[in-house]
Amino acid sequence: MDFNPCMKHQLISKTVREFVENEIKPMVAELDREARFPHEIVERMKPLHFFGLQVPKHLGGAGLDTVSYAIVIEELSRVSAALGLCVTVHNSVGISPILEFGTKEQINRFVPAMAAGDSIGAFCLTEANAGSDAGGVETSARQTQDGYIINGTKIFVTNGGVAGTILVFAVTEGAKNAANVFIVEKDRPGFLVGEIEDLCGMRANPVSSLFFEDCKVPMENLLGKPGQGLKIGLTGLDTGRIGIAAQALGIAQAAFEASVAYAKERQQFNRPISRFQTIQNYLADMATNIDAARLLLHRAAAFKDKGTPFSAQASMAKLFCSDTARTVTDMAVQIHGGYGYSKEYDVERYFRDAKVTQIYEGTSEVQRMVIARHILTQPS
Ligand SMILES: Cc1cc2nc3c(=O)[nH]c(=O)nc-3n(C[C@H](O)[C@H](O)[C@H](O)COP(=O)(O)OP(=O)(O)OC[C@H]3O[C@@H](n4cnc5c(N)ncnc54)[C@H](O)[C@@H]3O)c2cc1C
Repeated sequence: MDFNPCMKHQLISKTVREFVENEIKPMVAELDREARFPHEIVERMKPLHFFGLQVPKHLGGAGLDTVSYAIVIEELSRVSAALGLCVTVHNSVGISPILEFGTKEQINRFVPAMAAGDSIGAFCLTEANAGSDAGGVETSARQTQDGYIINGTKIFVTNGGVAGTILVFAVTEGAKNAANVFIVEKDRPGFLVGEIEDLCGMRANPVSSLFFEDCKVPMENLLGKPGQGLKIGLTGLDTGRIGIAAQALGIAQAAFEASVAYAKERQQFNRPISRFQTIQNYLADMATNIDAARLLLHRAAAFKDKGTPFSAQASMAKLFCSDTARTVTDMAVQIHGGYGYSKEYDVERYFRDAKVTQIYEGTSEVQRMVIARHILTQPS
């Protein structure tokens, strides 16, 4: 068992770190303050394959393995969790279901533009009455002779305000296995974008509601076989959870680094606060949790790369990485004292950004349900 990252993974990490430090970091606080999605940064990210991380090279992507993917999302989220969210949702629950369940025609029609970053992906399951309980989806798809007519409202859609290719969960009226996923392009008549949410964190991501009012899609926009919607959603979320775990880890890593630097620099009682045992305990706990989180994350990613079932491992990684992000950012604010509660310091943003990693793509309670189900269905 080798715990050291290989040369390829080290190089990926270094390359992404250099890019995000130079191109994104100087603007991050402003983007958060203005709740603005940075189209100009997205343009600079496109040639580096951020939008086609695991897409095969012949479709214009980088063809990365899942461990590399997790490293990219961690490094990106270490600087901008909101862009990390955009990129991970686009790649995982946006593109991967099309690659896995799409026909050759659908893959060729949608994936190259998505991999190029010219069409951002979104995944919409959540509705006012359907959150953790995906079975409660009410958005309907009525079948006609040449396609489907979709009606309903989706809420809290990551990338909603800028998405070009949207995966929509709907129930097909009258069908036996009713849950389906449709690929909806943003210029379809009847598709409307709602107001951008005024969020606590992830403020540079245009999370919004999406409305479907008699929105017609052709038959060939149904993803997978009729009635496969739930399977497509759950499979996509397994991959998605690796991305959210990596995002949470990136936030925790940033908060830890800021805390070490601050603890060495800040003087109280005529010495740096890093000399106090309590502060050292915080730093030791942060480092230990971050290490454990990264090991769980890379294990889940390695399972996926090997083709081994990885659903429980992805849930464990998501649960532990998001809890780590919460406790580490909390400690980071504590180490910074009053300054940590001020927007002058980045830890204030990390603290706000961390919380939602325990909520989206399955709350921590839902991750525990997935893990427990896995334990209880293992042969004894
Ligand atoms: C910033 C942001 C971005 C998002 N992006 C997307 C997106 O791109 N696409 C999308 O579809 N959704 C998205 N969501 C929605 C997100 O996935 C849901 O908020 C989440 O799944 C929880 O659903 P809910 O908010 O309806 O909470 P509820 O399901 O109402 O849960 C409320 C509480 O009850 C608990 N609970 C519910 N059921 C159980 C149970 N059986 N056992 C124990 N506890 C339970 C939950 O864990 C939670 O603590 C996003 C949300 C946010 C905030």
